[in-house]
Amino acid sequence: MNAAGGPATGSDFAIPAAMKAWVLGNPGELKAAQKPVPAPKRAEVLVRIDAVAICATDLEVIERGSPALIEGGLPFNKNFTPGHEYMGTVVALGPGVDEYRIGQRVAVEIHAGCGQCKRCREGMYTSCLNYGLNYGKLDKGHRANGFTTDGGFCEYQVNNINTLVAIADDMSDEEATLVVTAGTAMYGLTELGGLVAGESVVVTGPGPIGLLGVAVAKALGASPVMLTGTRDNRLRIGLELGADHVINARNENAVDAVRRFNGGKGVDYVLECSGAPNAVNEAIRMVNRGGKVCLAAFPHGETPVDVAHIVRNNIYLYGIRGEGKSATHRAEAFMSQKRFDATKIHTHTFPLDDLPTAIRYAKERIDDAIKVVVKARGVAAHRVAAE
Ligand SMILES: [Zn+2]
Ligand SMILES: [Zn+2]
Repeated sequence: MNAAGGPATGSDFAIPAAMKAWVLGNPGELKAAQKPVPAPKRAEVLVRIDAVAICATDLEVIERGSPALIEGGLPFNKNFTPGHEYMGTVVALGPGVDEYRIGQRVAVEIHAGCGQCKRCREGMYTSCLNYGLNYGKLDKGHRANGFTTDGGFCEYQVNNINTLVAIADDMSDEEATLVVTAGTAMYGLTELGGLVAGESVVVTGPGPIGLLGVAVAKALGASPVMLTGTRDNRLRIGLELGADHVINARNENAVDAVRRFNGGKGVDYVLECSGAPNAVNEAIRMVNRGGKVCLAAFPHGETPVDVAHIVRNNIYLYGIRGEGKSATHRAEAFMSQKRFDATKIHTHTFPLDDLPTAIRYAKERIDDAIKVVVKARGVAAHRVAAE
């Protein structure tokens, strides 16, 4: 059906006028609310959200506000719905959309960018020069789900087709929420870093991006791949995802261990995912001369850096924000080809109605939680399904 320029919908998916949505009140306060179901415009589809993973950045947004930017400021008490790592089913097509079909399962990238600035034209839409200008300048069309526009802790959301990644039929909803996480590691290592097979990689910090960074690096042919961290249970998962060596920084000097495992010269790349205060100075000593350090974590404070060491050794230091250059499509290809099992980092699923409990599990790492997923349908209330 396509009523004169309106969205095309399918009879299999009745779309209600209103939906459940969580909104951010004061810092740390999520409130259950009802919101209208948005309608897709040109180049957009309506996605029924089937699963959304909780990210450490969501916890930052809910507690501290930043890096979300709503109406040019902090996101509190603005009827804002956070959540950015979601997947779902296409249930309505905006005018002119034939790239996706009703009923298709998709993972959703966070950043749509504006599509018209220099960085968007280069494929670096997470670094859009019009970032956050979707208030007051609506025609800029910029979206970043759960950061500058409403996100995924609700039942439906509109998304630009350029942010969609079609997922394999046999990929579970939970695994599909991890496509963007794997795509972020991919973007840092290949599109921005230029990693080629046979180069050596250290990942510092075994959070979700770090663990999938190990898996992606290994799938790309990096050798050896090492992982540093302070928790043995996380390091063990790193081994299962392909790390050749893991280093517990509580037990030994991580820089010395990295150099020992790679012939004394250091590695070609460090993917820094810990955000620890000394992480940059350690990373620049883990790489060899001319090596590259990709910074993927948000530290809380300013970080002193030994610039002279970087200059003397021709080291490249670069930050990444999220996914870019459609790296998620390549990550999804690795996942659908079973090159690594991303579900090893999914630990818990809760119903959408229990979002505050799910957030507590993620924040306090209750029951060794790593990736906690919430689903609007198909999960019994108060049942914790661990894999
Ligand atoms: Zn995230
Ligand atoms: Zn842009």
